[in-house]
Amino acid sequence: MPTHTKVDVAIVGAGMGSGVLALLAAARGRRVAVLDRHADGPRDPVRGEILQPNGLRILDRLGLLDGLPAGEVSRTQRFHFHQIGGPRLVTIDYGVLREPYNYTLIARPSTVMAPLRRRLAETPGIEVRWGCEVVGLVRDGGRVAGVEVVSNGMRRRIEAAVVVGGDGAASPVRTALGIRSRIHAYRDGYLTLILPRPPGFGPDGRYYVGRREILGVFPLGADSVYLFYLWPAGDRPRLEAAGLDAFKARLTAIDPAIAPALEALSGWDQVGWMPCVKVVPRAWVADGAVLIGDAAHALNPHVAQGRNQALEDAVALDAVLASCFEVGNFSRRALALYERLRRPRAIVLQRLGDEMAFFWNTGNPLIGWIRNRVFAAMERDEPLRRKMLALVAGLSDRPYSVWDRVRALAGI
Ligand SMILES: Cc1cc2nc3c(=O)[nH]c(=O)nc-3n(C[C@H](O)[C@H](O)[C@H](O)COP(=O)(O)OP(=O)(O)OC[C@H]3O[C@@H](n4cnc5c(N)ncnc54)[C@H](O)[C@@H]3O)c2cc1C
Repeated sequence: MPTHTKVDVAIVGAGMGSGVLALLAAARGRRVAVLDRHADGPRDPVRGEILQPNGLRILDRLGLLDGLPAGEVSRTQRFHFHQIGGPRLVTIDYGVLREPYNYTLIARPSTVMAPLRRRLAETPGIEVRWGCEVVGLVRDGGRVAGVEVVSNGMRRRIEAAVVVGGDGAASPVRTALGIRSRIHAYRDGYLTLILPRPPGFGPDGRYYVGRREILGVFPLGADSVYLFYLWPAGDRPRLEAAGLDAFKARLTAIDPAIAPALEALSGWDQVGWMPCVKVVPRAWVADGAVLIGDAAHALNPHVAQGRNQALEDAVALDAVLASCFEVGNFSRRALALYERLRRPRAIVLQRLGDEMAFFWNTGNPLIGWIRNRVFAAMERDEPLRRKMLALVAGLSDRPYSVWDRVRALAGI
């Protein structure tokens, strides 16, 4: 690698939004460098993730759903919410949405990334550099003019008309830009497990909500299930001190059907830990630089929209960058259109995530009662159910109005 190179767009972080932005920019004839500090690409967390209809549409238009191995993904339409130790509260059915995006796709992030990575590698104009850590920004006067990277122990400089920070919730690019941000670490995160699919496990996802207790069980391809279990951040020693058998017994008590899957759990090293954070930066854009994905708007995973929002960022930013390149202007003002297009939607979803975390994760019996009542109202009231579905599926920006909330609570 030369010590000094020049590209049109330097994208820091090789997540899904970054990859799609690279493809879209290259299709317009731009030279793009995608830089990721991990030598063999982003680490695959121990989890399945939901691709929502909005994300599916973007990937499908780029032909990136075609090559997915059928045995490693689950097309899931129905999610059943149960009260722990109690009745089913509501079923959310994506099947009522308009085809062809009337389902969710549940898969390991690496499964969905694989065709995207192949496409990046074979697309002229795109260079993906793994094991390449961005350690600083190159500045020209007040504006960002590139990045400083360290790769194979060598420090290099990559000049770019625009630098895109797709480098995650802790975003070193955001820090280097000096953008002040509100970063909220939720008090609860998730223990995650991928286990063999128990016999008879159907195509639907299941959520169980209780008193500061949530268990999710999702199908993950033909042979696996993905489990996530709410747990207080920093409290893993208490879990491990109680022992693996106690953990398995608790999960089995919530959903006896997963007992055969839990037989494959033999050590804590199989149990992942996922903290949850929300990030609200003062600005998403600076002179010569812009943030996408979690760097711009990490949100609570209850909404299952983080990756899908990163894909929407890519599409919006590509359009804005096209006009910036036309006039050769990458100032904060020129890039601000991207933030104006995208931030309001991200805020709606971040607020939804906060509300979900407040009501779903609660240990307070009264708030839990309200949560269960709202779930039950959604089960009875189709418009309420559809409105929430459209929001979570990424097909609408309209949260519940005051009237919706009154209806949900009063059962009108
Ligand atoms: C428990 C949990 C469940 C979730 N479930 C879902 C779900 O079901 N659906 C969904 O849509 N979203 C879900 N999310 C959110 C989703 O995982 C994130 O929104 C998504 O990964 C963000 O992608 P990103 O590309 O912005 O950042 P990241 O995936 O964090 O990628 C950032 C990349 O930047 C690279 N990087 C960082 N610093 C540097 C540097 N200095 N130099 C070079 N490279 C660097 C990293 O190596 C990394 O590859 C979930 C999140 C959690 C915590």
